[in-house]
Amino acid sequence: MFFAVITLFPEMFEAITRFGISGRAAQRELMQIHCINPRDYAEGNYKRVDERPFGGGPGMVMMAEPLAKAIHRAKELAHEAGAVNVPVVYMSPQGQTLNEPAVQEFVQYDGLILLCGRYEGIDERLIQKYVDQEWSIGDYVLSGGELPAMVLLDSIIRRLPGVMSDEQSHVQDSFVDGLLDCPQYTKPDHFEGLDVPEVLKSGHHANIEKWRFLQRYQRTLERRPELVEQVELTKQQKKWLKDERG
Ligand code: SAM
Repeated sequence: MFFAVITLFPEMFEAITRFGISGRAAQRELMQIHCINPRDYAEGNYKRVDERPFGGGPGMVMMAEPLAKAIHRAKELAHEAGAVNVPVVYMSPQGQTLNEPAVQEFVQYDGLILLCGRYEGIDERLIQKYVDQEWSIGDYVLSGGELPAMVLLDSIIRRLPGVMSDEQSHVQDSFVDGLLDCPQYTKPDHFEGLDVPEVLKSGHHANIEKWRFLQRYQRTLERRPELVEQVELTKQQKKWLKDERG
C-alpha cells in the first residue's frame, strides 16, 4: 500500500518504519511511506509555513500554499507508484472517530495521503479544497497530527495481506468480529499465587475454543456491553452460550 505523510517532522515516522511489525512490512516492501515536508515548498529565506490567524487570537495557523504544493507532490508520487484510489486524509480532533470498521475500510484503498496539522491547525480553505476525509483518534487534543497519523498507519499496516503471519494473525484481536479478545497466558504455570486455567493446558482444541469464546463474550458484556448488542454470533457460539446458561 502507498502512504504519503505531509509533516513538519518526518523523522518522527522512523518510529513506524524502523520498528516492529510495521518496520518489517516496510523492509519487505509490503508498503511504502513517503514523508513530505511542507517547509520544502515554503517561500522566502525563512521558509515560513505558519502565520498569525486572521481575526487575532493565540497561536499560529499552518498556511494553505505550502500544504497544497506538498499534496500535489504526494499525488505525483502516488501516480508514479500506480496507486489510483488515494484519498487525502486530515488527522483532526474534529474528524470522525477512528474504529475497527473504519480501519477495515482504509485497507481497501490503494493508498492514503495523510495530512498532519500543527499549531492551532491548518487554514480552512486548504481543507475545503484538498481534504477528502477528516479522522480523529479520540476526543482529546494532541500537539500535532503525527502521532494520530502513526496510529492510523499502524492499524492499517497490521491488516495488510502478508504483513502478519498466521501465528500473529490479527483475526483474534479485539473488535475484529465485534468482541474483545480473551485473556492470554504464557509460562510459567504459576505466578504469584495465580494459575493458568487448566483448559488451556489440556490440548483439547474444541474445549479451548469454547472457553475462549465464552471469556471473550463475558469480557465484552462486562466492559463494553454496547458492543455485544451488535455482534452476530455463529450457530456454534449460540450453542455454547446456551449450554453455559443451562
Ligand atoms: N485547534 C484545533 C482544534 O481544537 O480543533 C487543535 C489543533 S492541534 C493542537 C494541532 C494538530 O494536531 C491538529 O491540526 C491535528 O492535525 C492534530 N490533532 C490533535 N488532536 C488530534 C486528534 N485527537 N486526532 C487527530 N488529530 C489530532
